Amino acid sequence: MTPHSLDPRAPWVISTHDLGRRPGAMRRMSLTLPAPANIGVDMIGVPQGADVELDIRLEAVMEGVLVTGTAHAPLRGECARCLEEIVSDTEVSFQELFFYSAEDAAEDDSLLDGELLDLEPAFRDAVVLTLPLSPVCSEDCSGLCSECGIRLAEAEPGHGHEVVDARWAKLQGLVPEHNNDQES
Ligand SMILES: [Zn+2]
Ligand SMILES: [Zn+2]
Repeated sequence: MTPHSLDPRAPWVISTHDLGRRPGAMRRMSLTLPAPANIGVDMIGVPQGADVELDIRLEAVMEGVLVTGTAHAPLRGECARCLEEIVSDTEVSFQELFFYSAEDAAEDDSLLDGELLDLEPAFRDAVVLTLPLSPVCSEDCSGLCSECGIRLAEAEPGHGHEVVDARWAKLQGLVPEHNNDQES
């Protein structure tokens, strides 16, 4: 439940004053808000303060205000395979009913604080759900060489380390060289 202590000047707090609690009253808004802190998972997230572009529709219904929206946000992270920085973006949609009264709402439902509602939790949940736990810089990122740690994308084609074993050394030259790089 939303605590009844919303700051009307906080960027993610929206006033529903003009809907006047009239079921059917509706307003659309497009706005750009600074990303709150800690929107993300371990290896990727929305940088704090980055521009988040929102298109939202506020609609008064019997029990409260229904918010339906999409948000477009930049992402920064780190490739789980090669540790290269990832710069991308995400678009999420969310919908949340903010109840006028706690009597109508269940434990996990959101409440209006007077005429105010806080969009941040709905946005946060929607973004976190779409983020990969193991983000990659590209689908075919081959990661790091397990021997020397070089990024394989930047290495010579066929990069590998010959492990010279005395038993095999004398056979070298007798058979065509094989590239024993293992697919990872
Ligand atoms: Zn990578
Ligand atoms: Zn190597």
